[in-house]
Order: sequence, then C-alpha cells, then structure tokens
Amino acid sequence: MGSKTLKVKTEKDHYTAGACVVWCYDNRFWNLFNEFLKAQEIKNFDPIVIAGGSKSLASPDNESEREFLLKQIELSIKLHHTDRVILMNHSDCGGYGGLKKFGDEEKEFTAHKGELEAARKVVESRFPGIRIDTVFADFEGIQFI
Ligand SMILES: [Zn+2]
Repeated sequence: MGSKTLKVKTEKDHYTAGACVVWCYDNRFWNLFNEFLKAQEIKNFDPIVIAGGSKSLASPDNESEREFLLKQIELSIKLHHTDRVILMNHSDCGGYGGLKKFGDEEKEFTAHKGELEAARKVVESRFPGIRIDTVFADFEGIQFI
C-alpha cells in the first residue's frame, strides 16, 4: 500500500447520516459547526461547505449553482439515508457582502431570515416530507429560524 505520509485509522463501515448540513466555509464558524452538531447529538453527517451557506439555494448567481447543491443533498439522501437537512447562514458573511452591506445587525438578521425561508422552500419542494432546519449563526452563537 506504499508508505503513508500520515497514518490515521478511518472507520470503514457505512453510516446513516443524522443530517445533511449546508454550511458556509467561513472558518470563524467552524468551532460553532462542531459544537452545534454535538449539541444536536448528530454523530454522522454530510457537510456541504460552500461560500454563503444556503445562498446557493435562496439566491444563487445562476441556476446551475442551485442544481448542483440540490444534487449534493439528493446524493446524501440516497447514499446515507439522510432524513434531515440543516441550512445555515451567518453574520458578516462574505458571500453576502458582509455585515456592512446590510447596515446593522437587525437588518442583516431580517435579510438572512428571508434567505433561509426561501432556501427552505426550495429544499421542501424538491424533497417533500424531509425535515428541514434553518439556523442563523453570529458571533455569540446560533439560533433556529
Ligand atoms: Zn459566510
């Protein structure tokens, strides 16, 4: 098998995913990502980590972005029997032009709430009956929307 650069044991067994999680790749929120999933008692998950989080569902730059993301969710459902989708947006997201684009935190929150609701509808209509949670993260924590 050749000599390994790094030896790490990886679980071979297939798993059922507790959730497919659409999350922004902003690394400031990576610790929160792990803490949130732990708090939700989700052990195995399929992370889809892309700039803007659910932006590609709610307001993609082009339709192919949305289709690509929906296909990734579809594969998670097919391969890992995922029955829950978590859609995340966060404060000061570069994908949305940052906090400054909205003026203040209240306006930013309202805009992201609308985005998350739009993203939920897109997922709902493609995968009827699946559990969908929308969450908004800021620098103090995370909340369900
Ligand atoms: Zn972001």
